Amino acid sequence: MKRVLITGGSGFIGSHLCDYFLGTDYEVVCVDNFLTGKRENVAHLKNEKRFKLLEQDISKRIEFPDALDLVLHFASPASPFDYHRFPIQTMKVGALGTHNALGLAKAKKASFLLASTSEVYGDPEVHPQQEEYWGHVNPIGPRGVYDEAKRFAEALTLAYYREHHVDVKIVRIFNTYGPRMQPNDGRAIPVFIAEALNGDPLTVFGSGSQTRSFCYVSDLVEGIYRLSQLNFHDPVNLGNPNEMTILELAEKIREITGSKSPIIFKELPQDDPKVRRPDISRAGKHLGWEPKVDLDTGLRKTVDYFAKLKRERGALVWQKQ
Ligand code: NAD
Ligand code: UDP
Repeated sequence: MKRVLITGGSGFIGSHLCDYFLGTDYEVVCVDNFLTGKRENVAHLKNEKRFKLLEQDISKRIEFPDALDLVLHFASPASPFDYHRFPIQTMKVGALGTHNALGLAKAKKASFLLASTSEVYGDPEVHPQQEEYWGHVNPIGPRGVYDEAKRFAEALTLAYYREHHVDVKIVRIFNTYGPRMQPNDGRAIPVFIAEALNGDPLTVFGSGSQTRSFCYVSDLVEGIYRLSQLNFHDPVNLGNPNEMTILELAEKIREITGSKSPIIFKELPQDDPKVRRPDISRAGKHLGWEPKVDLDTGLRKTVDYFAKLKRERGALVWQKQ
């Protein structure tokens, strides 16, 4: 039996990784400080003998005494709303947290996988985005705390590969969605679904002509597992190339929820990327990976999850700033 430690393991993606790795030949150690994640995301694993949950702030130190084969570093606020609320924690976990996670992997002679992001490409001047593109990031804008922390994290990860020969991998994740996102995390899909289910207007920023490409979480997790098992050290894009405008997304969510809510328009946040679509040829070539879940299917599963949350909580609370 092998053992994987997942930082940010009780977050949205981290909790799906916990489930996935428990379905293989790994024991799973989930480390989280619940800054943006939820205990409920891993509550169903409480009685699983091969699962352990540790509450630690990994920007300070990661304490784990036993052997490890793999470290997956997913701890970080991930939505623009969250990293605006926690700018310093975001930079600390991307820098100090990554340093601690790499140090742990080195000490245990474990492999290491960094959750990086399409945000390293910033507001891209190249479309679609290939891994060779260096990006167009404003370091001092409101998104800079996240983008630069992840760019630093990538540089540090490759420094540990070059100097200490740690077996590292880097995944650049494009917009991913699914059950266990939080209705109050401010990202477009959970917010639009919460607004539609509450009967509130759907709030599109700008004219809604900016584009994103949305990947369902089970596809992403499959790609991450494959990369974790591979001897490949360059960054790999994982995402669904199915690109659409944010207005089209809002309309699709209205259709799927059967909502009669109007769509209203608010000011576009500073530095909001105008386009985003992954070139996934590298993942296709090296991982034999491509996304399988289409948007309608993925959104229906996500809407079911939010409808259940609403029944349990009474309302889906989302306060716009
Ligand atoms: P999330 O907020 O649900 O999960 C992040 C988790 O990290 C949370 O459980 C949070 O409590 C934990 N965390 C934060 N700081 C910590 C600290 N100092 N110590 C311990 N735990 C800490 O977000 P997510 O969407 O699941 O994102 C997970 C990772 O994937 C992040 O690194 C994010 O940058 C990356 N990513 C996500 C997306 C996406 O579309 N969801 C896109 C690109 C990259
Ligand atoms: N967006 C929106 N309304 C919202 C939340 C987001 O129109 O309530 C827009 C946002 O301006 C961006 C896109 O949806 O253009 C995706 O935003 P998200 O926060 O999900 O992720 P990003 O890709 O910007 O990090």
